[in-house]
Parts: sequence; structure tokens; C-alpha cells
Amino acid sequence: MNSSQPTEGQSAKQIPAFRPYLVKVARTEQLSTSFRRLVFTGDDLQYIGTDGLDQRIKILLPLEGGRWGDPYLFAPDSVERGSWWEQWRALAPEDRNPIRTYTIRSADCEHRELSVDFVIHNDPGPAGTFAQQAEVGSQVVIIGPDRRAEDSSIGIDFHPGQANTILLAGDETAVPAMGGILQGLLDSHWSGQGKALIEVPYADDTTLQLPHPEGFALDWVSRSSGQTNLAHGVSLITRVEDYAAEHPALFPADASDATSAAALASSGFTDIDVDRELLWEVPEQAHVNGFYAWMAGEAAMVRSLRRILVKDHGIDRSRVAFMGYWRAGKSEM
Ligand SMILES: Cc1cc2nc3c(=O)[nH]c(=O)nc-3n(C[C@H](O)[C@H](O)[C@H](O)COP(=O)(O)OP(=O)(O)OC[C@H]3O[C@@H](n4cnc5c(N)ncnc54)[C@H](O)[C@@H]3O)c2cc1C
Repeated sequence: MNSSQPTEGQSAKQIPAFRPYLVKVARTEQLSTSFRRLVFTGDDLQYIGTDGLDQRIKILLPLEGGRWGDPYLFAPDSVERGSWWEQWRALAPEDRNPIRTYTIRSADCEHRELSVDFVIHNDPGPAGTFAQQAEVGSQVVIIGPDRRAEDSSIGIDFHPGQANTILLAGDETAVPAMGGILQGLLDSHWSGQGKALIEVPYADDTTLQLPHPEGFALDWVSRSSGQTNLAHGVSLITRVEDYAAEHPALFPADASDATSAAALASSGFTDIDVDRELLWEVPEQAHVNGFYAWMAGEAAMVRSLRRILVKDHGIDRSRVAFMGYWRAGKSEM
């Protein structure tokens, strides 16, 4: 029997879309100053989803001493019942393994491997600390897609429909997702005009290789160069404004002009308080032609990008995904 087939008595519909995989680090690679790739391996990764793009996963990190609050969280019957979340929530706070959100950089079910590119950042929480210190054999639990499940592509937010002009914009935490999206477009022989605006901390981070389709231009910028240290998001926001100015056909009107179509489109605009709410505005399935944009990174930065596109230019919201991946000064949980 093909290992990706449901077991007897279990249809694809019954298999939970996401499940825990107990994995350990097989290899590590320092890609640049800010990026460390951890390649995880585990027997069950034969079932890992390989839909790619920006598919997100959760990572459960060990408590001190490598402790798992509930060792049965990833026991076969919990996996089959899809009960990990309820089991985790039922634990006393001190027994709950910290959970953080990451992106599958690549998955290889044949070789039972999954790669995650971690940003090594200041003031790290449990995930950043784990990424810095991980060695071959270090364990985590990945809550990831099961390719045997009917809805295994849950957690993908890039829905460009039939768009032939694509804009991606993000900071370092969005680089793995942008890498997955560009690889997916390349694999699907997408043709059109695309631009990826990418802001990273250091000059050597801009040398990361992200294979992409011919019509795509990658525009990297680093916050630190020589004596200059720009605040987070400043360069990216300027670049998005420049892109809008350079593409009047895509950004036709100034919404401050009360008679324009953009003014109508942006009339229901309300800002988001990123310290209280999650900034996550993603069109479910964009059935768009023409222009589509995807933007992710630090939440206040993404809020500014949303203002530029929606408030200032009245871009139709079904054409843009805005995602606050993290919030400066706040832990994910
Ligand atoms: C869908 C999605 C996909 C993501 N994919 C990736 C990915 O593939 N790779 C990746 O590295 N990150 C990714 N992130 C971001 C990652 O989840 C956060 O950076 C996470 O908060 C890091 O966890 P931590 O335990 O180190 O820090 P936390 O405990 O969450 O926070 C501790 C402190 O660190 C700060 N902080 C958190 N992240 C950063 C950062 N990147 N730079 C500077 N300060 C930071 C916080 O503001 C806080 O002050 C993704 C987030 C989402 C929502």
C-alpha cells in the first residue's frame, strides 16, 4: 500500500489536516548572519505535506531539560484523533511547551526531512533561543500538514488566482515564505511580471539565493550598512511607495481625491491596533486577474503598508494579503 494512503477504515476526510510530528535536528546550516537553517528528520515525516508556498506550521519547543508537558501529545492515538490542541490547552501553564509559528522552507517526504529557516534575532524567546543553540539530535514537535488529509493545504495564504502582476513585500521573517512562493511560481511555470521587495537586517543576508521565475525581480535592502542603522520597515515602506508611484496603472488614483474610484474603495477603511489585535487580512481564495500583492512581517510595518495600499490608493482588498507575522516588543504567546 502506498504510505500516503489512509489506513483501513480511515478516509482522507477523517484524517486531521495538521498533526504533531516528533522530530530531531539532522543538520544545521548558517545561511547568513541572520538566518540559520535547521533540517529536521523523523520517521512520521513520510506523511508531511509538500504543498509549499507560504504554508505555516507550529513548533512546540521543549521545556527546560528537554521536558514534554504531555508525552502523549504525539502518541499515535492522539495523532489519529487530532486532539493535540485540547491536550495542550488542558495542561497547567508551567507544563505547556511554548508554541511558535514558522514556515515550511522545504519538505521531502521521501527522505523524511523538513527544513525551517529561523531568523536569529535579539531578545529571543523560546524559538529564537532554540534556533541559536540547536545541535544535531535536538528535539521539537512540529504541528504540520498531513498530505493524506483532504484539506492538507490549510495554512497557505498566498492565493494569486490568475494574477499576472505580483508584488511581494516582507521583512526577514517573511523570507522563508517568499522563498516558498517564488519556488512554487517557478515550479508551476507562472509567467508574468513580479517584484519581491525584501528588507533584512544585514548586508550578507541579501545574498540568500531564492530561485524565482524569469519575470520576477528581487529587490533586497539591508537595514545596516556601514554606519547607518535604519529603523525596522523604513526602507520597505519607501520601496512600496516607490512601486506605487512607478505603476500608475495599478495604483490609478489618490484616495484623497474624494471623487476617485480609490476613494470609494477605501471609504470603509479602519486602522488596526496591532498591540491589541492580530493584523491578518487575507482574501480566502482570490479569483483575481491582473494585480495581486502579498505582504508580511512586523505588524506595525504591515499596518503602514496596508494604509498605503488600501487607504491612500484604494486597492481592492481581494487583491492583497496583509499578515502581521510578529510584533516588536511582544511575545507570540
Ligand atoms: C505565519 C508565520 C510564519 C512565520 N515564519 C517564520 C519563519 O519561517 N522564520 C522565522 O524566523 N520567523 C517566522 N515567523 C515569525 C516568528 O514566529 C516570530 O519571530 C516569533 O515570535 C519568534 O519567536 P521567539 O520565541 O524567538 O520570540 P517571542 O517569544 O515570540 O518574542 C520575544 C521577543 O522577541 C521579539 N521578536 C520576535 N521575533 C523577532 C524577530 N524576527 N526580530 C526581532 N525581534 C523579534 C518580540 O518582539 C519579543 O520582544 C513567522 C510568523 C508567522 C505568523
